[in-house]
Amino acid sequence: MHNNIDNDNNINNNDNIRVRFAPSPTGHLHIGGLRTALFNYLFAKKNNGKLILRIDDTDIIRSSKEYEDLIISDIKWFDIKYDEFYKQSERKNIYERYLKILEEKGYIYECFCTEEELLRSKELSINLKKPYIYNGRCLNLNSDEKENLRKKLADAGLVPSIRLNMLKLGCEQVEFEDMVHGKVVFNVKLLGDFVLKTSDNRFTYNFASIVDDIDLGLTHIIRGEDHISNTPRQILLCKALGVSHPVFAHISLLYGKNGKLMSKRDFNANLEYYKKEGYLPQAVLNYLAITGNTFIVNDERFSDEIFSSINEMAHYFDIKRTKSSGAIFNEEKLKFVNEKWLQQLNADDLISIIKEKFKTRYIQNIFDCAEKEYGKEQLIYIIHFLKNEYKTVIEIISELDSVFLYNGQYKYFDKEIAELLFKNIKETAIDCEPEPLGFNEILIKNIIQKITKENKKNTKDIYENLRMVLTGKTNGPSILKIAVLLGKERVLSKLKI
Ligand code: GLU
Repeated sequence: MHNNIDNDNNINNNDNIRVRFAPSPTGHLHIGGLRTALFNYLFAKKNNGKLILRIDDTDIIRSSKEYEDLIISDIKWFDIKYDEFYKQSERKNIYERYLKILEEKGYIYECFCTEEELLRSKELSINLKKPYIYNGRCLNLNSDEKENLRKKLADAGLVPSIRLNMLKLGCEQVEFEDMVHGKVVFNVKLLGDFVLKTSDNRFTYNFASIVDDIDLGLTHIIRGEDHISNTPRQILLCKALGVSHPVFAHISLLYGKNGKLMSKRDFNANLEYYKKEGYLPQAVLNYLAITGNTFIVNDERFSDEIFSSINEMAHYFDIKRTKSSGAIFNEEKLKFVNEKWLQQLNADDLISIIKEKFKTRYIQNIFDCAEKEYGKEQLIYIIHFLKNEYKTVIEIISELDSVFLYNGQYKYFDKEIAELLFKNIKETAIDCEPEPLGFNEILIKNIIQKITKENKKNTKDIYENLRMVLTGKTNGPSILKIAVLLGKERVLSKLKI
């Protein structure tokens, strides 16, 4: 807990900060994508700005409503709240309007090259080991040539594509100040006249994206560094449109411990994995926020790196401290962060989170049964105990299932000890029957001592037997606490041979 919230490194509260997370609904949201969403969320929150969720679905072939819904539900699962929502497929008129502006300014031209022709030039570049740059072939066609080529395309059901005229823009290089990378310079010659609208009438990512960024009044673009090579193109489009470009921040992608970029194929890239493993949404966010990133709290590096709330995380978030590359994903560290979050949540809140977020039939069923068996109040005590002993929700639930709900009998190591425990607990329990708190840790300890003395038994063996009978395991958290939480009747019924 950090009460001293005093270092104010807000960008500028009056700037009306607007950022966006712009996933393409062509697959599941990936853990790296969640990190990008989070950084935007934290940046907006810190600066009293707005977060926009924009679905980049210009690629109609690869995009699907199913993935769109999944992405939205993932974002909600992690409690990343957005203020506005847009879909590129519903904004075609806006792109047309901006294209018209470029046309009026003479910054675009029609390209009649067929896919095969372009492919051939690309192959040629590859063979020559040169970067592919469009050769500008269609820039100087006369109107007769254009009409001929237009007819040919029309026969194939296509229209000319539209390219940006770099020559007309007259820039040799694009330079921008990235909030993460510092000064970045690109040679315009290497970009070529890129396509804004394709021959099958689709707006390209580079065009639609920056048009939206401008049109939606976005002030900062925080995205993965895999997009850094798109940025000069988008900045040139801003120049052509006569508007200033947003501030860019390209954050590192996530790498596995083996140093390889995490890809959609990695089992732990899919967010379902974290839900299934019982990670708390807040803990995953906390972990992603500190990965490849430094937090300074009260002028010092924030050493324990566990925040008490997402608000606190946002308060100390500073995008400029984000590492420009090599954010390494480490699941053991995530587990550690999850464990700390379990400990700092109170049992009531944890119960609400389990009910709301972990909706698998198995988890909800165990939970309902436990509530029925123990009552709400006792279940809070049990969860309070378990959350301090285990690292994930799944571990807690499986313990709830196997120890607190299992009413069959686990084996014992030593029949005589089990019988002695049964007899002594039963007798002592009767002694303190009117006193409901009688079955406590001290009492059980005394019973074990008594059995040790009177029967020449080894204390360790008695504990081990008790643990085995109650939990079916040879080790785990305090068996005295478990016995108390189970209550004497359940303990006796498990000990009964
Ligand atoms: N839709 C792009 C993607 O999912 C993001 C584009 C951007 O952030 O500019 O990679």
